[in-house]
Amino acid sequence: MVERKARSEAIKAEALRLGFSNCGIARAEPLFQETPHLLQWLDKGFHADMKYMERNLEKRTDPQQLVENAKSVIVVLHNYFPEKVKFNSSYKVAKYAYGKDYHQVLKEKLFTLFNFIHSEITPITGRCFTDSAPVLERAWAVKAGLGWIGKNSNLLTRNDGSFVFIGELIIDLELEYDRPTMHDYCGSCTICIEQCPTGAIVSPKVIDSRRCISYLTIENKEVIPEEFTGKTNNWIFGCDICQDVCPWNRKCQPHSESQFTPSDSLVELTDERWENLTENDFTTLFSQSPISRPGYEGLIRNVRNSSSRE
Ligand code: SF4
Ligand code: SF4
Repeated sequence: MVERKARSEAIKAEALRLGFSNCGIARAEPLFQETPHLLQWLDKGFHADMKYMERNLEKRTDPQQLVENAKSVIVVLHNYFPEKVKFNSSYKVAKYAYGKDYHQVLKEKLFTLFNFIHSEITPITGRCFTDSAPVLERAWAVKAGLGWIGKNSNLLTRNDGSFVFIGELIIDLELEYDRPTMHDYCGSCTICIEQCPTGAIVSPKVIDSRRCISYLTIENKEVIPEEFTGKTNNWIFGCDICQDVCPWNRKCQPHSESQFTPSDSLVELTDERWENLTENDFTTLFSQSPISRPGYEGLIRNVRNSSSRE
């Protein structure tokens, strides 16, 4: 027992040393409670064209399906709340996409944490995940005691708000487990629901992706439906509105990860440059950025659809 505690503490200390803002540990067992919610959400078609959400349902809810003999899910958070930046354009990009692709940054740190456990504590087997495999990340973060799911469906934390990336290590080592977060600190607040410009938060914690600007400008491969014309508030990649208005984000402190700092070339893009972006510009500017996700055609569609030019 003492050994488990000491190992868990050493892992958490190393996670903080690597720049993660918090780390919690959950027992690797099936997420029985979350399964019905996920099924209901899929049943209603709220996942829009993200057909991959329908696949690997067992893997999504059972860590044993991802790592044989899984014992622990180590969940790490990484702050990405930026310093105030004055962009030259009225077009808006979600904060998580200001810098280098977070998948790469987090994966590197997660591998370092994995290697630390493997070499400094005891040999382990396992896998690292960050938004890259069928893992219910927010549910694991709650189970690991790191926060609760807000009415905007984001993970909310008391210290770092919701501008945090989530990563996981699923490993075959028994550790000391944190208590799940039982309390919902949203209370009677409904600001995010009221402020969502497209009515995408259809009930607390439930997002209809078909109405969400974040989905419409990133995963969506089709034309943005006319009913949202003039409602995307100049967001051309993602949308931060339901996080920006959240009282829990008022005291967010800027991150200190240089890789998440926006490049001068992104900050300096004017409306005119966005509107005349060539495929070549797109590749040069965004090959290392999450902004590459919708592809050149998708990004240009978003710029054209944006309300500032209507
Ligand atoms: S990301 Fe934007 S569109 Fe989507 S739910 Fe939040 S406020 Fe609404
Ligand atoms: S805005 Fe209010 S209801 Fe929405 S997530 Fe934040 S605290 Fe919860």
